[in-house]
This record gives sequence, structure tokens and C-alpha cells, in this order.
Amino acid sequence: MEKTIALIPGDGIGPDVVNEAVKVLDSVAKKFGHRFEYRAVVAGGTAIDKFGDPLPQSQLDLCLKADSVLLGAVGGPKWDNPDSAFRPEDALLGLRKGLKVFANLRPAVIFPQLKKACPLKEEIIGDGLDILIVRELTGGIYFGKHFLSDEGDWASDEEKYSRKEIERIVKLAFEAALLRNKKVTLVDKANILTSSRLWRKVAAELSKAYPSVELNYLYVDNAAMQLVRNPGQFDVIVTSNMFGDILSDEASQITGSIGMLPSASIGDGSGPGLYEPIHGSAPDISGKNLANPLATILSAAMLLRYDFKMEDEALCIEKAVNLVLDEGWRTADIAGDLEAVKREGKLIGTKEMGDLVSQIINN
Ligand code: NAD
Repeated sequence: MEKTIALIPGDGIGPDVVNEAVKVLDSVAKKFGHRFEYRAVVAGGTAIDKFGDPLPQSQLDLCLKADSVLLGAVGGPKWDNPDSAFRPEDALLGLRKGLKVFANLRPAVIFPQLKKACPLKEEIIGDGLDILIVRELTGGIYFGKHFLSDEGDWASDEEKYSRKEIERIVKLAFEAALLRNKKVTLVDKANILTSSRLWRKVAAELSKAYPSVELNYLYVDNAAMQLVRNPGQFDVIVTSNMFGDILSDEASQITGSIGMLPSASIGDGSGPGLYEPIHGSAPDISGKNLANPLATILSAAMLLRYDFKMEDEALCIEKAVNLVLDEGWRTADIAGDLEAVKREGKLIGTKEMGDLVSQIINN
């Protein structure tokens, strides 16, 4: 199959980790007889420097013309001036809007090899953790009417969802659950919010088309608690923009390894999706061969799975990552006992990690 991928290295460690993901994608292409063509896109702080705009239309157009988009990270202290008209992070909002992606899929996985990084007690995490959080991305309170009274003594923000917006995201959660453990938890605040009650109504109606998937409901306050009390009960969590924003960060902290977590932002399938690690541009370690590229490599696996429908190829990457971890190879962020890993000669950098994953795929 021939596919084009728009590559947005971005800022900080973005280029470091995207390079490694490309290495891995090239190995997959070779093994499975595909051809991936890459289009370089400039966005974020580097685009402010080059064009005076974090996401010029010309760069967004390159993304829109591609079959999928892989992003490293954007931002950094160089562009942190609060008085500046633009921020690198504006590129992220521009990409989401321009690509019309409405669902953010964030797996929160504890790799058994990295169990010690999890801040929860061993008896709580049991055999590990594998949750998929499906967050609505383009509606709700972040996009509702924001109002501040003339006197500045009261303000309001509107939480608004249409049936159509809820339907498309809940449907996506059911479809994802079919490929997993067939359980969807709708997280809301239906005891108080009318909008949440509409979410429940729509989800209950849709669930009739997915008889093999169990649907249950949880209030968001309880969900926040259950994530640290008994995370093993969850398979797919589907929720609104704001609740998803908060819960997905909580879930990522539980895994203890920010350098391991990928994400996908997808739309109705008619255009490219946006795939990126959940971490930022980590300016403290950029260009030093210290960044863990696995989150970006795993984002590339999601890209193959969701945009190209290449399930075997995605699994091939995920298995290779597991094998590298089984063999004890670690970047510093996931080393745990750094001195012990050094003594064993298993401490490696960004490039070596990318090489090892590629080699396993090549063999
Ligand atoms: P960050 O995720 O960049 O870094 C947090 C900590 O985690 C740092 O100590 C960093 O060294 C470490 N870290 C992150 N990714 C790592 C990796 N792959 N391997 C090893 N260690 C890793 O978050 P921050 O410091 O809050 O933000 C830095 C910049 O990134 C800011 O400008 C912020 O706005 C931006 N940011 C961008 C995105 C994005 O592009 N999607 C997301 C979050 C933050």
C-alpha cells in the first residue's frame, strides 16, 4: 500500500522522537511491502520563527493532503512570552480544528516490565492496567459561550452538546471496545447536569446496536476515585471534553511513564487523523539523545491501526516495543533504579531505542 504521512517534528525533543518513529515506520514498510512517503511540516515554535505564525495555512494544507499526520511536540521557553500574539500551542488547536478531529483516544497502559514506575500499590494494579480514554475534543464547555459581566463580578461558561456530537463519539467508543474487552463506561455528572443526561440517553440508545458490549455509567467524581482505587475495572472510558481532559491526565500519572504514552485524535475517517505522544517538548533534555521515543513510536502504531487499518503492522510495532522492554533496555526516564540499569549496560538513548525496535521488526 502507498501512503503519505505528514511529519511535524515541532520543537524541543519533537524532532528527536519523530526521527525514531520514522525509522520504525520504514522497517514496517519494508517488512509488509508498503511505501510510506513523508511530507515535512513546520508547526509550533519553529513555525513562529520561520513564518511568524505557529500554523500557516500552507503547512495545514500539507497535513490535509496527507493520509495521516504524526506530530512530535510543540512549545518551549523561547516562545513563552505572555505578550506575544502567538503561542506554539496554538498550532495544536489549529490542527485539531483544521483536521476536524473530534475524538481523542488515549491509552493508559502499564507495561508489566515497568510496573514499579506506577505510584499505586501492587495489589491495586494487579496484572497491570490497560484503559482507553475516549475524550470528546471539539465541544462542551471549552467551546461554549464564555461570558464576563460588564462589572466583572460574575462570569459563566456554557456546557453544550448536540445529539450528533454525542452520537459520533459514543459510537467510536463502542467500536473501540469491540476490539478490546467489550466494556464502555460513560463518565458524566448526570445527577446535576442536563447535558450529561442527554449523553446517557444517547449512549443507552446506541448500546442496542452493540449487544456484546457492556455499558455502564459513573459520575465523574466517583470515576476520579475509582481510577486510583480499582483501575482494573475499566476498559474504555468515554466522556466529555473537560472531564476527559482531567481524567486522561490522572490516568497517565498512574502509569508513571510519560515517555511511554501515545495518543490519537481522529474524526469521521474522511480525512487524516493526528497522532502524537502525550508528553510535551521537554526542553530540558532536547537534542541530548535522552528522550524516550517509545510514546511516539507507539503513536505511529496507532496511526497504522486507525488511519491505515493496518492492524498486523500496528501489533508488530507494539510487540517489538514489548520485546525491547523484556530484554531490559531502558532510557533514563523508565530506568527505575538507574545505577542498576547502568551496571547491566542496559541504559540507552533515544537513537539506540529506535534502532532496537527497528531491528526487531527487521528480523
Ligand atoms: P513535558 O512533557 O515536556 O515534560 C515534563 C517532564 O517529563 C520533563 O522533565 C521532561 O524532561 C520529561 N519528559 C517528557 N517527555 C519525555 C520523554 N519522551 N522522555 C523522557 N522524559 C520526558 O511537559 P512540560 O515541561 O510541562 O512542557 C514543556 C513544553 O511542552 C511547554 O512549552 C508546553 O507548553 C509544551 N507541551 C506541548 C505539548 C504538545 O505538543 N502536545 C503537550 C504538553 C506540553
